[in-house]
Amino acid sequence: MVKKKINKILARFYLTDEFNLSKNIFRIGVFYMIVFLLVSRYYLGFLDMGFYFIWALATGFILVNVDLRNYIKIKNLTRINKQLNYIEQLTTALRSSTKTEDVLKLVLKNLTEELTYDRVLIYSMETDEKNKQLLKPIAAFGIDFDLIKDYSFKMDKNLDMVPRVALEKKGYIIKNAQDDYRCSQQFVSMLGLKEFVITPLIAKDIVVGVLLADNFINKRPIEEFDLMPLTSFSHQVAMTIENAKLYEKIEYLAIIDGMTNLYNHRYFMESLRDEIIRMSRYEKEAVLSVIMIDIDHFKHYNDKNGHLAGDSVLVEVGQILKNMTRKVDMASRYGGEEFIMMLPSTQKEGAVILAERIRIAVEEFPFQFGSRQPDGKLTISLGVSTYPEDGVTGEALVDSADRGLYMSKTAGRNKVSVAGPK
Ligand code: GH3
Ligand code: MG
Ligand code: MG
Repeated sequence: MVKKKINKILARFYLTDEFNLSKNIFRIGVFYMIVFLLVSRYYLGFLDMGFYFIWALATGFILVNVDLRNYIKIKNLTRINKQLNYIEQLTTALRSSTKTEDVLKLVLKNLTEELTYDRVLIYSMETDEKNKQLLKPIAAFGIDFDLIKDYSFKMDKNLDMVPRVALEKKGYIIKNAQDDYRCSQQFVSMLGLKEFVITPLIAKDIVVGVLLADNFINKRPIEEFDLMPLTSFSHQVAMTIENAKLYEKIEYLAIIDGMTNLYNHRYFMESLRDEIIRMSRYEKEAVLSVIMIDIDHFKHYNDKNGHLAGDSVLVEVGQILKNMTRKVDMASRYGGEEFIMMLPSTQKEGAVILAERIRIAVEEFPFQFGSRQPDGKLTISLGVSTYPEDGVTGEALVDSADRGLYMSKTAGRNKVSVAGPK
């Protein structure tokens, strides 16, 4: 009863809605008070009311302060606990996202809304053309991404906190970035950084990125205890980003031909069928063309120059096809030394013109050992077909283009032909 009342009074005094004088301190306090009263009354033989009053005030003050400190500690622990609980929920949500972009969006949203940071920046560990590691910005919240998108960091500890946390695998809270020798001042002034928290994103002991957050607008101070939930959060983020990247890689591998980096046969046929369905449904005068390509005397090339040289030719022809097509066109490796292209919204005349350009580009390309070919140069034969005049299904269009290709072969190779419908 008494304790409850004291708690109530103290809660009002400290302007909080909950205040609990801890049990032990309360008991020790009461015990101490009784002993003191007994000793002073019966042993020392005096009980001066003024002295007692001052003593009571001093004891009360000490007890309340000790308890207030406990209270603050508990409050912080409650906050951390709440954040950890929340992170657990977020992890479940993250696990169901498979696209890196979606994962990042979710992470940014939650970091800002739930962990109440108002600016967040995520860096990803990438390798450049020279096989050197660098940290590249991949997502931002509260910061104009265009401003920082080219601001990558090499993995050098002396450059900035961003590579430093990645190298040291350790998070930091920077209290005053403008006066901190560890921060690159160009970066600091560009973002107006003052107080911020920065942690590495570690998945399976490997640093996959860095996360930086601050409270640029709400100015909430970042305390030591903010680091723990953020570190745990970063770990989850790292794992999910890695998983999403891996998933995307698998998806990519499933549709791309490993040698030429063009789409593979299966994905091409799927896309061709989908495109025919889409345009016949939505476009009034739907049209689309297909070009089938085969390298001339390629067996001869392999026999004369070796399989490896043959592989290089396939890569180079693939590159020529890629360079000569629009974004909406789709070039793919159909199999062996055959290629196929889909040209949406392209009439026969346009497709034949493009096929002719490709034929000339290959004929003029300085392939290694090209002169050893039967015609003194490496060439291709092509066949063109068009929807709907030559066929209304993917299979029919490919068949028509293939017959066109055969016509080019029998007419002496290094040609473009149209076979028409069956
Ligand atoms: P044609 O002008 O009639 O097309 O003659 P060709 O020799 O090109 O045709 P053929 O079908 O007889 O031979 C195709 C050759 O392509 C056989 C094979 O060794 C080669 N080839 C298929 N795939 C690959 C590959 O991935 N790498 C290499 N180096 N050669 C390949
Ligand atoms: Mg062939
Ligand atoms: Mg061939």
